[in-house]
Amino acid sequence: MTHTASSSASKSGTLEPNSLGVTFGLLGDEWTLLLLRVALSGATRYSDFRDRMPISHAVLSGRLERLVDEGLLERHIYQARPARSEYLLTPKGSSIWQLLLAIWTWERRWVTSHSYATPPIRHLTCGKEMSPIYCCHSCGEEACPENVSLSWGPAGGWARSTPGAQTRRRATRGGRTESSAFYPDTMTVFGNRWSAVIVAAAFAGVRRFRDFEAFLGPPPIVLSERLAALCDREILEQVQLTDRPDWSEYRLTRKGSDLFPVLAVVVDWSERWRSPADDAVLKRTHKTCGDEFRGVFVCDHCRATVRGHEVDLSGA
Ligand SMILES: [Zn+2]
Ligand SMILES: [Zn+2]
Repeated sequence: MTHTASSSASKSGTLEPNSLGVTFGLLGDEWTLLLLRVALSGATRYSDFRDRMPISHAVLSGRLERLVDEGLLERHIYQARPARSEYLLTPKGSSIWQLLLAIWTWERRWVTSHSYATPPIRHLTCGKEMSPIYCCHSCGEEACPENVSLSWGPAGGWARSTPGAQTRRRATRGGRTESSAFYPDTMTVFGNRWSAVIVAAAFAGVRRFRDFEAFLGPPPIVLSERLAALCDREILEQVQLTDRPDWSEYRLTRKGSDLFPVLAVVVDWSERWRSPADDAVLKRTHKTCGDEFRGVFVCDHCRATVRGHEVDLSGA
């Protein structure tokens, strides 16, 4: 991975987020993730969502509309008088189950106090509670950051992979993101336009404050806050090198390293649904088999590849 900013710019002279930046922006919202989870467990009507989520009318309507605009839900009128619509998952919306599975697996492993249930995940095919393993779709080996090589495609670069400021949905107070009620740790990573790319850069080997600043381009005060928030959640740790007292680094903890499948699935999903008109963002190669990398989840009990209809994400 080369740490250079992309030179592509829109006509206005500012960098347009690429498909990955747009995806980070879309997912950086706990209501969107929760709403998709409820939709995957069968909710279609407005009242289904309202009854299953502690959400205001304005917020629910706004999120449903956004997911229709982004092509994850389709509005379907099932009754003419009075007019009643339902919201059906499109194939693009349904395929988000892999990301929810990755987030759920990570939250279950690392986050002990939850205000929202993350019960065991059952593989319906073998009936066992599973800890799904993220593997190369081609050779089946468990995927790890060391075995997936990355290089930017024509639409790549850190700046373009960062969501635009207008996609930031969360209210902030005093410059800090409000803490999230449902998936606070996941939202520390996704609920802010900079955090997900900071974690992605850490996976790509960026360690020093000045390098995060140079490659990603956030204002230093924002970068300090996001690094502090990621250290608070024990996703990164600040390490003072003993032989270089003036030198400190930010490194992924074990909890942070275990986010690899979550971020990789975001890339999988974003690449799968990228418009053919948009250039590729990342080229990923699985070093073990040499094939282009894409991940699949495998059940740790029966070793079968897990498919969307074989996993219960309702949380019931
Ligand atoms: Zn492979
Ligand atoms: Zn199984």
